[in-house]
Amino acid sequence: MTPHAPSPVTLNVELGERSYPIHIGVGLLGDPQWLTPYLAGRQVMVVTNEVVAPHYLERFKAGLPGDLEVRELVLPDGEATKTLDHVSRIWDALLEAGFNRRCTLVALGGGVIGDMVGFAAAGYQRGVAFIQVPTTLLAQVDSSVGGKTGVNHPLGKNMIGAFWQPRAVLIDTDSLATLPPRELSAGLAEVIKYGLIRDVDFLSWLEANMAALRALDQVALREAIRRSCALKAEIVAADETEQGVRALLNLGHTFGHAIEAHQGYGNWLHGEAVGTGMLMAAELSQRLGWLSEADVARARRIVAAAGLPEAAPRAMGVDDFLSRMRLDKKNIDARLRLILLRGLGDACLDDQTPPSLLEALLRDYPR
Ligand code: NAD
Ligand code: MG
Repeated sequence: MTPHAPSPVTLNVELGERSYPIHIGVGLLGDPQWLTPYLAGRQVMVVTNEVVAPHYLERFKAGLPGDLEVRELVLPDGEATKTLDHVSRIWDALLEAGFNRRCTLVALGGGVIGDMVGFAAAGYQRGVAFIQVPTTLLAQVDSSVGGKTGVNHPLGKNMIGAFWQPRAVLIDTDSLATLPPRELSAGLAEVIKYGLIRDVDFLSWLEANMAALRALDQVALREAIRRSCALKAEIVAADETEQGVRALLNLGHTFGHAIEAHQGYGNWLHGEAVGTGMLMAAELSQRLGWLSEADVARARRIVAAAGLPEAAPRAMGVDDFLSRMRLDKKNIDARLRLILLRGLGDACLDDQTPPSLLEALLRDYPR
């Protein structure tokens, strides 16, 4: 731990007997006190990938108590690995090691590793313990919290999965030091999202602290992650399986998914597409009379300050958006459902927007 490291903070995701803590701080990764209480037994399987392992696997293992039976599995990197085949490799490794129902899986990596390891834990012997150790900002503020796990199918992203909550989430803000700046910005999109949907004071805080966050100031990171996780935890506690309010977390995502799919996944990072998507939702909200021009300009400045793109891809026409937006999982009975803003910090689910208004927005939005 660095001499002036800020002290760790803890918050809880309140889900009855499935409740769990999120610990946030510097140096958690190599310190056994954070991990030990959440191990189900002596058998521990750490799953990571080829990019993360050289940076953090040894540090993580150094922090494990000596009396454990530890195995490691290093998978290839990338969204393309988020498949049932790789989950099977985790199950193979667990069975070959003779791991029983009291084993614990540890997901050391970004959202891809977290989603896969969580799903592997949900399925192994009908469900074993798992611990999230997220190492991207996106995973720290979003994917590691809330229990959505799963993999992609050739016919659709995240189409196979389960709700399976971790025993704990251990967030070491120090691990962001090696993250490419573009990935950091992509994570900031989800951070901004929480402010836009739920907490206008947090938006003001972000305006004042964006430069510090991008410079990896540890106090600022701890605070941004804490507030983001608290907002997500509150929403998840109210609606664990997304029957209602949890859908608000998809602000910017219907537009964003259309951009990601049209551009080819990976060309625009998810967070980049969400950044632009949130601004498109904000502009549509302005057309409905809900946001002022100043509100939209403010959202635009925050997104730009995070290093995220504001304009939609030049090549995307109105129909490119509409055809993909119609496939969105939120839609029910062919009605397009969008998350929009009644004000900054006040998101709502809307299925009343006239198609003509949406089409005009898609036509006029800057490319
Ligand atoms: P990712 O896991 O692919 O990580 C991005 C890149 O950063 C990868 O190349 C990774 O190897 C690398 N990396 C990770 N940690 C690093 C570090 N500390 N230093 C250097 N490089 C590092 O992507 P992501 O953005 O973390 O997560 C995206 C995934 O999360 C998607 O599959 C998405 O569907 C999923 N997701 C899930 C939820 C959920 O609720 N379960 C929510 C949001 C996103
Ligand atoms: Mg997202």
